[in-house]
Amino acid sequence: MTRYTELAERYGTPLYVYDLDRVAAARQDLLDALPEPFSLFSAVKANPHPEVLRVLAEGDGRTCRAEISSLGELAAALEAGFDPAGILYTGPGKTDGELHEALAAGVGLFSVESPTDLEHVGAAAVARGTEADCLLRINSASASAATSIRMTGRPSQFGIDAETLGEVLPRLRAVAGTRLVGAHFFPLSNASDEDSLVEEFRNTLSVAARLEREHGLPLRFVDIGGGFAAPYAVPGERPVYEKLRERLEEALDETFPRWREGSVRFACESGRYLVGDSGSLLTRVVNVKESRGRTFVILDAGINTFGGMSGLGRLLPVAVQPEGPEQAARIADGTGLSASLVGPLCTPGDVLGRQVDLPDVRVGDLLTIPNAGAYGPTASLLMFLGRPAPAEVLVRGGAVVSATRIEHRRVEVAPSGDRQPVGGGPA
Ligand SMILES: *Cc1c(COP(=O)(O)O)cnc(C)c1O
Repeated sequence: MTRYTELAERYGTPLYVYDLDRVAAARQDLLDALPEPFSLFSAVKANPHPEVLRVLAEGDGRTCRAEISSLGELAAALEAGFDPAGILYTGPGKTDGELHEALAAGVGLFSVESPTDLEHVGAAAVARGTEADCLLRINSASASAATSIRMTGRPSQFGIDAETLGEVLPRLRAVAGTRLVGAHFFPLSNASDEDSLVEEFRNTLSVAARLEREHGLPLRFVDIGGGFAAPYAVPGERPVYEKLRERLEEALDETFPRWREGSVRFACESGRYLVGDSGSLLTRVVNVKESRGRTFVILDAGINTFGGMSGLGRLLPVAVQPEGPEQAARIADGTGLSASLVGPLCTPGDVLGRQVDLPDVRVGDLLTIPNAGAYGPTASLLMFLGRPAPAEVLVRGGAVVSATRIEHRRVEVAPSGDRQPVGGGPA
């Protein structure tokens, strides 16, 4: 039996298996690919499992900082041991209650997405008798320097339109309770190759330098975003960026010559690169059916288990690998099929992939979806149709160190504020 068949038998399917050694390796590779003084933010949303976060937070000296966007992520980051002072709080809809709690917990940095967002942060900080360090998220939206140097971007709930900065900056600098310490960019996700990643960073750095030069945007800290790639639900290796460090240093010498003195600090951020290749999803074939000339392979994992981004209407380029010798022998015979890979939910939307090349699968076969460590359970429609969340097993040094599942349950909600009868009339 392979390790996966053994784990599937022990814990049932659908089952996520994460290898924590791979998380540690990805973290080290990415830190090594960045110039020495760079910070690296780990985007908690990619995989908020507490043990995964603990690995990202561990280590002395150079390690990850947490990038969060909710109080749930804040609690997870703190529990994992991230230093609150190093946490970056992002998102276009930070509420007053969230800001108060984040400030109370000692969160050190806020990315603000609009002038009003900055005012909300300021009001919460003033109410707590403190000041919050803020980065202005910039919507420069030049999609990629390789294809375009457009400076006008698409409308977005994220970031302040770069072209309005000259006009709004004087007001932003005066918002009580806030210190504008820098800028935050996130123009790109999952870059196709190292050259386009470098090109995007060069572009971002020159935009930042220009905004500082032309508008006096205060820059003590510049988060130039991410775009670090990882295979997602298909076989393949996470890239190792061999040239990035040197090319970034060259770009910094051109755009921010003072960077070597440390008077301006830089950061990058990543979700999928850090956790993507650590995970595999094990799923069993529940049924195989034909309909009007098409084959449907029905799995016990659907968009409730591996929604990925299918909530956005995107199908994964999913590929499955068979487990077990008997099945491997069948594949060696060369029999295979192209089928729709669907989940067990009662919705036609429960499709993981169409025309997926599969071995000749049978009911009961165990399949693996590789590189499923990012945007797994918590990016899925976990509660839809009332199935249990998948178990998540963590392996370190080849041994199982944790096996849990997320459980959802209904709880009483305490009323908040005054208790006027609903509708204002007598109850
Ligand atoms: C989601 C997100 C990330 C992580 O993106 P990946 O493509 O997983 O690396 C980083 N930064 C911000 C601002 C994000 O919203």
